[in-house]
Amino acid sequence: MEYPGNLFVVAAPSGAGKSSLVKALLELDAKLAVSVSHTSRAPRGQEQHGREYWFITAEEFRAKVEHGDFFEWAEVHGNLYGTSRAGIEKRLADGEDVVLEIDYQGALQIKQLFPHAVLIFILPPSWEELMQRLNRRGDTAPEVIAQRMANARVEVAQAQHFDFVVVNAVFDTAVFDLKTIVHAQRLKYAAQRRNRSTVFRALDLP
Ligand code: GDP
Ligand code: ADP
Ligand code: 5GP
Repeated sequence: MEYPGNLFVVAAPSGAGKSSLVKALLELDAKLAVSVSHTSRAPRGQEQHGREYWFITAEEFRAKVEHGDFFEWAEVHGNLYGTSRAGIEKRLADGEDVVLEIDYQGALQIKQLFPHAVLIFILPPSWEELMQRLNRRGDTAPEVIAQRMANARVEVAQAQHFDFVVVNAVFDTAVFDLKTIVHAQRLKYAAQRRNRSTVFRALDLP
């Protein structure tokens, strides 16, 4: 499937800063929209239904899987997460850029469906810093943190299959790196031919 809009897929181990970075990126770029996933996990802290996630039961989730409502779905840390078709397909077809904040299993499924999807992996600067960020966030129970730290080793090993890697040491540097990736994608020939059609026509470019 090929759409005029760019699809960016951001994955990272829990606590690496994925949600904070994507939020900052969206505030800087009005042409980017994030897809809100469905999940069977319970809301955490200040999370709101329809904002961070669509919170549904595992049964409702399974029914949606049966109906083929998801582009991709995966079990992560014992909960179900999925990206619904509704919304993204239309946005991409309309030429809008979409960001998915999903786990590596989902990211690799998306790459199969959309080979043009841009896969970005966010790395923490160290295991110690990752642990500190999970603790500092203060909304995750100690046993959940231990499970996420263990899973982080498996997740980080998948970074080699991604197109880009951003190390989130200094927050603003990482936001700048993400912006650069988005910007570069918009300078690709096919994108420029769409966005600068007057110039391309004037220069007799195909
Ligand atoms: P976080 O890791 O602290 O951001 O915790 P979350 O509960 O928000 O996310 C748990 C995991 O599920 C992360 O690896 C997310 O990237 C992943 N995830 C969230 N939404 C989706 C989705 O729609 N599809 C897939 N495949 N993974 C998702
Ligand atoms: P994720 O979505 O990957 O689980 P979050 O965006 O929730 O991660 O970030 C985890 C915690 O680390 C949050 O408390 C966030 O404010 C903090 N954080 C994110 N990036 C940085 C950074 N570069 N330096 C220090 N703390 C950070
Ligand atoms: P959390 O429960 O901390 O919000 O997220 C845990 C993990 O699930 C994160 O790595 C997050 O990116 C991932 N995740 C969230 N939504 C989805 C989704 O729709 N699909 C997939 N595959 N993973 C998701």
